[in-house]
Amino acid sequence: MAALKNTKNIKLFTFLASKCNPQMNARRFLNLQEYHSKDLLRKHQVSVQDFRIIDTKLDPKPLGDFKADEYVVKAQILAGGRGKGHFDNGFKGGVHLTKNPKEIMGLAKNMLGHKLITKQTPKEGIKVEKVMVAESVNIKRETYLSIIMDRSFNGAALVASPAGGMDIEAVAEKTPHLVKTVPIDIYEGITDTVANEIAAFLEFKGDLKKKCAEEIKKMWQLFTKVDATQLEINPLVETDDGRVVAVDAKINFDDNAQFRQQEIFALDDDSESDPREKEAAALNLTYIDMDGSIGCMVNGAGLAMATMDLIALSGGQPANFLDLGGGVGQAQVSAALRILESDPKVKVVFVNVLAGIVNCATVANGIVAACKANPSKHPIVIRLQGTNSAAAQKILQESGLPLHMINDADEAAKTAVRLAKDK
Ligand code: GDP
Ligand code: MG
Repeated sequence: MAALKNTKNIKLFTFLASKCNPQMNARRFLNLQEYHSKDLLRKHQVSVQDFRIIDTKLDPKPLGDFKADEYVVKAQILAGGRGKGHFDNGFKGGVHLTKNPKEIMGLAKNMLGHKLITKQTPKEGIKVEKVMVAESVNIKRETYLSIIMDRSFNGAALVASPAGGMDIEAVAEKTPHLVKTVPIDIYEGITDTVANEIAAFLEFKGDLKKKCAEEIKKMWQLFTKVDATQLEINPLVETDDGRVVAVDAKINFDDNAQFRQQEIFALDDDSESDPREKEAAALNLTYIDMDGSIGCMVNGAGLAMATMDLIALSGGQPANFLDLGGGVGQAQVSAALRILESDPKVKVVFVNVLAGIVNCATVANGIVAACKANPSKHPIVIRLQGTNSAAAQKILQESGLPLHMINDADEAAKTAVRLAKDK
């Protein structure tokens, strides 16, 4: 439900779920900054504040003739909780208000190029490359509204709360009566009755209730038009001049719809992604970063999950996963090994391949070529089973490399964990 969870387990889970669809190739998840999401909202007539963007490029007049009574200056990163966050330079808050246009550039300079640390970012924070300057609204009340694809309803659902602006999970936990969830029939869409019911639950009254219901219906149109899986507005506010405005926005998209949403996917902001993830994606491989010390090369999502379990059962933790997928070639295997070893958390490499389509000999040749070109600094535990495994064993043995070749998956995982602890 929350805007953006930066937990690695969710990433792994989403990756595994996406892998269940064979039409998908290895790609990253689409991430849009707030300003891109708001552009989409605006295009669908949802009420948002007018804004400009300042970035690190040296434009002496980035705001042009942009004028407002009050401005809100917002760091653009792919994580929420910015308002309560702080920067690595000591500057407090990723959302600032000012009435003085001369202060805008000063506020932006405190943000640009610095790392913003919030509840949802990694510990070290995320570097701010862009700052939004929007016309501030005078907020009377903050509410929460999202439309999500929810498996428990086999479809879409509207989630609303009059207690917006804050962590919605905490609201749901502490005051569940303040959160309302309504399943939406995908064919029927959001009816006037449902839109009005939700607007009333959000405590909009009279004319404002009508306006809110209209906003909700326009959000639904956007949601279906762009193949979203989640559209979250937190806060959706009531202003003191009687407007309903989406002040913050986060949209997630169905990756399977990329073919018909190319314009949106072209906006993908991968500047905050792990460079290893990007490098792997360029080779049509999938890299997932984790927190432990064992670098894992696997083939297939199911085996990634099983490998994670085996390592955990042996008392260890994966540092990452590199999924070779199906039709992998020798050069890709060599590159995969190099990518996963370049993660400084890695103490041991664990190759766990159960080959069907993959040829074990190709994997073995890839590993040998990589190690001969550049000897590995880490112990390498290899379990290669399936297609052509006998030939693979021979290649590995004849290489003369100090590899730990173990056929049994349990045993191999235990050895990898032990070697990581010994280091
Ligand atoms: P987040 O902290 O990353 O979720 O960023 P938001 O865009 O949600 O902003 C955080 C908070 O700043 C909001 O909940 C509002 O209370 C406040 N805020 C954001 N924009 C405005 C604005 O235009 N005017 C006023 N008065 N407050 C704002
Ligand atoms: Mg917010």
